[in-house]
Amino acid sequence: MLLECPECGKKSLCIKEKRAGCLSCSYTNEGEKAAGEWVRKIIGKGDTEKARQPVCSCPQCGAQALVDRSPGGERQPGPRYLCFSCGGSWPAEEIERCPECGWPEFSAEFEELIICRSAAGFYVCRKCYEKIFRY
Ligand SMILES: [Zn+2]
Ligand SMILES: [Zn+2]
Ligand SMILES: [Zn+2]
Repeated sequence: MLLECPECGKKSLCIKEKRAGCLSCSYTNEGEKAAGEWVRKIIGKGDTEKARQPVCSCPQCGAQALVDRSPGGERQPGPRYLCFSCGGSWPAEEIERCPECGWPEFSAEFEELIICRSAAGFYVCRKCYEKIFRY
């Protein structure tokens, strides 16, 4: 999949072997750095709020290179989450953010916590689940 290049703006940025490189200009960068640049220059174009969104860890490869294309939750065509390191891309419904720590994780990896007093269960990521159940 080709993405907008943070340097020349053309849709010719490709992600390969933990690096992002543009096919139109000479732009190339490590996946994790390119993710940060992409957030600032492409998603955050004219919107400082969006430009400040953090790059998260990818649930697939673990690199700090996962970008949320819709930080405000607005719908748009194409996958919502992109990893600039392994090149993975996922639609909004496949990745959820943990309500406890904000960590993105595949929806299937969430553990359901049933809080007795509230009857309603809620989902947290595996890390938080283990933290809660250690006590
Ligand atoms: Zn370019
Ligand atoms: Zn990844
Ligand atoms: Zn969590």
